[in-house]
Amino acid sequence: MIYMLRVDNLSKHFGGVKAVNDCSFSVKKGKITALIGPNGSGKSTLLKSIFNLCEIHSGKIMFKDKDITKLPTHDLIEEGISFVPQGRQVFSDLSVRENLEMGAYTIADKEVIKRNMDEVFKKFPFLKEKQNDYAFSLSGGQQQLLAIARALIQDPELILFDEPSLGLSPKAMKEVFDKIIEINKEGISVIIVEQNAKQAVKIANRTYVLEQGKIALEGGKKLLHDKKIKNIYFGGE
Ligand code: ADP
Ligand code: MG
Repeated sequence: MIYMLRVDNLSKHFGGVKAVNDCSFSVKKGKITALIGPNGSGKSTLLKSIFNLCEIHSGKIMFKDKDITKLPTHDLIEEGISFVPQGRQVFSDLSVRENLEMGAYTIADKEVIKRNMDEVFKKFPFLKEKQNDYAFSLSGGQQQLLAIARALIQDPELILFDEPSLGLSPKAMKEVFDKIIEINKEGISVIIVEQNAKQAVKIANRTYVLEQGKIALEGGKKLLHDKKIKNIYFGGE
C-alpha cells in the first residue's frame, strides 16, 4: 500500500453548481497533504464528501486498498478516518470531557475509551485540567485543540482538518499547526484544508490547489516559490 487515501474522479453538485468537479488526488501514508484554494472552490465539500457527510454525484474513494465510497460516517471512523470540521463545532454547552466522550461514540468498549481518553489527556494536559468546564469557557484556540482531541480519541490513521487556523490569533494558530505537525510525526496521515495557504504549503509534503471544484495545480514545497501561487494565495509575499 503506497496510498492511504485515493480519490478518483469525485464530483459533487448542488443543483447547477459543480462544487467538486471530477477531482482525483491521493494521500501518501504518514504524510501531510494540503488543499488550498479560494473561498467557494470546493475544499469543504471535498472533505465532507470523503467523510460521507454529503452524498456524492460520482467518483470512487479508496482507503488503504478498500473501497469506502458508500460507507456511512461511523464506519469510516471505525476504518480509521477522523474529521475536524470547519468552525470547530464543539458542543459549547457540554463539558470538555463530554465533548471528548461524544468523539468516542463509535467505540463500544469502555476500557478502550478510557485508554484513549488518557492518551488524549497526556497530549493535552490543559484539557484534563479543564475536563469539567463548559467548552464555551475555552478560548478559540483551546476549542480548536479540543476539536482535534475529539478526533484523536477515535485513534485515527488519517485526519481531515478543515480550516483549523480560521479565526485564531497568531499565537493560537502556531500552537494548532505545531500540534498537527506533532500528530503527523507520531504516524497519523493528514489532509489539511487551509486559507492560510503559505503555512499549509510549508508543512505539507504535497499540496493540491483547487479552483472552481477542479484541481488546478499540484506540487511540493517548491510551490512556496511559485510566482502565480505567491501572487494569488500568499498576497504577493
Ligand atoms: P470552500 O470550502 O472551498 O470555501 P465549499 O466547499 O464550501 O468551498 O463550497 C463550494 C461551492 O459549493 C460553493 O459555490 C458553495 O456555494 C456551494 N455549496 C457548498 N455547500 C452547499 C450547500 N449545502 N448547498 C448548496 N451549495 C453549496
Ligand atoms: Mg470551506
